Amino acid sequence: MKKNVELEKAQEMLLRKVHTLPEENVNLLEAFGRVLSRDVFASLDGPPFSRSAVDGYTLTAEDRNKIRKGHCARLKVLEVVRAGYASKLTQIPGTTIKIMTGAPIPRGAQAVIKYEDVLEEGDSIIVGGKGNPPEKDNVVIAGEDFVKGECIGKKGDRLYSASIGLLAAAGQGKVPVYRTPRVALLSTGDEVVDVCSGSLAGAQIYNSNLYVLAAYCRSAGLHPVLLGNVHDRKEGIAEKIRDGLEVADLVITTGGVSVGEYDLVQDALAIIGADMIFWKVHMKPGSPALAAEKEGKIIIGLSGNPAAASISFELLVRPVIRKLTGQKKYFSPVLKAVVADNYPKASPNRRFLRSELRFNRGQVEAVLTGSQETSALKSMLDCNALIDVPAGSGALTVGQKVLVHLVEQKGWLV
Ligand code: AMP
Ligand code: MG
Repeated sequence: MKKNVELEKAQEMLLRKVHTLPEENVNLLEAFGRVLSRDVFASLDGPPFSRSAVDGYTLTAEDRNKIRKGHCARLKVLEVVRAGYASKLTQIPGTTIKIMTGAPIPRGAQAVIKYEDVLEEGDSIIVGGKGNPPEKDNVVIAGEDFVKGECIGKKGDRLYSASIGLLAAAGQGKVPVYRTPRVALLSTGDEVVDVCSGSLAGAQIYNSNLYVLAAYCRSAGLHPVLLGNVHDRKEGIAEKIRDGLEVADLVITTGGVSVGEYDLVQDALAIIGADMIFWKVHMKPGSPALAAEKEGKIIIGLSGNPAAASISFELLVRPVIRKLTGQKKYFSPVLKAVVADNYPKASPNRRFLRSELRFNRGQVEAVLTGSQETSALKSMLDCNALIDVPAGSGALTVGQKVLVHLVEQKGWLV
């Protein structure tokens, strides 16, 4: 086991042990947030036929040229074609077909003129003359958006609303995706009580970690398996972790990973015969984090302090989830920003500060979101970026250049 590792080293050691899950085919309606396990190709042109972009009347090339030159034409209306129907006629000069948006362009027609630009007279229309030369075709050409055989989704792409719409238009009712990971969540601590189980006695607190981790899992499209809270007893913790390993692809615990006498997660991991990967990461908050492996499955133990649990989830667990689910990019984007507030404390150790990015006069500014204490929950609310303060830094001053790691927040996904 490696002790006191750099964050990047911890991430690398974890990712080396993680294997992307097997693939399965799912209905497109179930595919939101899933990751494609293969490239997907359009099975038809989009649109599949050339169609009218407006409600109007079709024109042959000859009639169109005529009215382009300023002449008037009287065209006989042959029939009316609605979206969902195709005309069987071939249009010849001197004739027109009344066509609705989305209906296929009939044979012989080249363009469509809008209703507003024609004069209807009995079973004919009059087009041309002053002021209405039909410059636009008003036709959406077959294959204009995508062509049959074109790659419309790449292996490793996470599917969002727009990609799902494209897949539907391209004839993909089922898509190959990686299986959704099941993530077992366990909190530890004698003082921790579930918010739904009643009021608190003297020294108790409500369990926020289990809830926040479950929500993170949901927003990442995973199935959280809630193992609840377990008291600080190594046998009890071991039993719960064993349960988690049986049903889940990844186990995450909170609390009990530091150096206190009742920090017993490591002892529990020894009981079940898990191999430690690392313990303690050079970062604040969240430094006591640990990781272990048992029969190809990973257990990640996070500090019980709520902000530490959230921040180390972003930095340590999120990349693991991305690899498990088959995404191509494991790490959140890192941007350059300037700090918008002073932060008085020096940082002998690498520190991550909760901030919210905003644009100000062409710059990306990182505004501190509130208390940076490791127990503070409120400052996570608006946090969408973590300022990466290198070890050995002094106080931060307004305008100082920093790197920030984007974090997934409020439905915003990287
Ligand atoms: P630990 O990591 O077990 O030393 O806990 C660090 C701090 O986090 C302590 O103040 C705990 O009471 C608190 N804590 C631990 N687990 C939770 C939890 N599930 N929800 C909220 N706070 C917690
Ligand atoms: Mg504890």
